[in-house]
Amino acid sequence: MARFTPWDCFKAASATLVAAWLLTGPTLADARWRQGVFPVAVFSGYTSHFGQRIGPSGSVEPHHGLDIAAPLGSPIRNWWGGVVKEVIDDGRCGLGLLIQSGPYEHLYCHLSGSVQNGTYHSGPVALRSGSRVNGGALIGHVGMSGRSTGPHLHWGVRYGGRWLNPAAILQAMAAARGQGR
Ligand SMILES: [Zn+2]
Repeated sequence: MARFTPWDCFKAASATLVAAWLLTGPTLADARWRQGVFPVAVFSGYTSHFGQRIGPSGSVEPHHGLDIAAPLGSPIRNWWGGVVKEVIDDGRCGLGLLIQSGPYEHLYCHLSGSVQNGTYHSGPVALRSGSRVNGGALIGHVGMSGRSTGPHLHWGVRYGGRWLNPAAILQAMAAARGQGR
């Protein structure tokens, strides 16, 4: 599987980055982005970037998120404080969570654990639609449910109905932290 560095992701997405800055405001954004939490506790690398990619069928298809490889069962942290909007259990995302934070929605796919009666369970985690979750909170564990060839987190961020490039958001978080010191 091809590996991509954050820089590759960043280059691939400069147009989306510009769009993200325009949407969020270039000055107010700085302080806000610092609150963001990297969603994977044990980082193994990036396995698929945002944008067009060759799917399992051999055709080009859009990939609306960033795939972050991590050990099976390792913790997933909530990127931003918010409310669980949807608990997902399907053949593509597998077990997943969609969390709403103001105008942003963030998606976590391929989790381990189980979904029973609309509640996602994994170790001490029990989340259902309407659950409040703080930024950085444990929200689940890395798995390979749904359409996944190895343990990783598919992380997507949507603003106003359009998917942003998560690599651009990570870049903005890093930039905000650098300025804060
Ligand atoms: Zn993905």
